[in-house]
Amino acid sequence: MALVDRLQSDHYLIPLPVALEDSMHGTMTGFEVITVRVTDVDGATGVGYTFTCGVNGGAIHYILSCEMAPLVQGREAEHIEAIWKDLWWGFHYGGRGGPTVLALSAFDMALWDLKSKRSGLPLWNILGGYDPRVPCYAGGIDLHLGPEDLVAQTHENIAKGHRAIKMKVGRDRLPEDVARMGAVRDAFGADLTLMADANMKYTVDGAIRAARAFRDFDLAWFEEPIPPDDPAGHYRVLTEGGIPIASGENLRSLWEFRTAIEGGVTFPEPDVTNCGGVTPFMKIARLAEAFHLPVTSHGAHDITVHLLAACPNRSYLEAHGFGLENYIETPLRVEEGVVRAPDTLGHGIVFDWERLEGLRL
Ligand SMILES: [Mg+2]
Repeated sequence: MALVDRLQSDHYLIPLPVALEDSMHGTMTGFEVITVRVTDVDGATGVGYTFTCGVNGGAIHYILSCEMAPLVQGREAEHIEAIWKDLWWGFHYGGRGGPTVLALSAFDMALWDLKSKRSGLPLWNILGGYDPRVPCYAGGIDLHLGPEDLVAQTHENIAKGHRAIKMKVGRDRLPEDVARMGAVRDAFGADLTLMADANMKYTVDGAIRAARAFRDFDLAWFEEPIPPDDPAGHYRVLTEGGIPIASGENLRSLWEFRTAIEGGVTFPEPDVTNCGGVTPFMKIARLAEAFHLPVTSHGAHDITVHLLAACPNRSYLEAHGFGLENYIETPLRVEEGVVRAPDTLGHGIVFDWERLEGLRL
């Protein structure tokens, strides 16, 4: 037995070293991290976290500290499915999606960290254990970069060990994106795996036009060409545009992924910090497997490497454009396009709480 003794949540704003830009979120100068530490009656602790683009963190912190904490105290921490189901339905009316699901994601992650630590196993092993070596790509947040700067950035990413990169598209003038993409493909040739991400910028017809304009650049996938809740639109973009589609970072439940997959999303792309946590992420991955689809990921690469290391149908892990590398003990290391899930107990992410203290909100 491992009854939950207490839950502690903390809220930080981490400045970005340089401002980043995509088509629909605009310019970003910082991101919020909301952490949660769950401690059981034996004194063992699991750690979870979630991110925002800079707003809503206060709501997430409040939900964790003031609403979830009293509900989970005294619960059996190993019964994650039971806790997850009770929280999902307990918060459902006002909380289906949005800050509630981000809070649930962080808490569920902490429970899985605790469970795997108590089991004496690394997280990727307790989740099924497929292969700790996970292919990885660099997720650029670089809509503001022109052709020359994009090429320079790609050189830097290759020097860091990457062999696959994703660039942002979605400028107001499509020829500018075509020129940016063409510059990267010309500079690095056919061996570079290349993806493009529109962050939901286009209409369906606009996305089809863009996909046709990108066709010659051999994209591995076209990410979020349109808003996420239009399965019929995705089907048209896929079949008329002719490029596989990735989508999912803006879906918030297992059931939304079912609809998306039925609509033609080729690379389901859950984010463990906003899809409800490790529990639904693994179900989404297995759902994809049932459709013979590869699963990719969005954000939170330090924990997600464990999840994809437990999936026989994993494709690429996203090494996200911003992360926790300055605030954790062992940041992800890329070698020849591959990262390795650590063999430490739990997820193995150790925060530098002292350093974070100065960024507390
Ligand atoms: Mg994306």
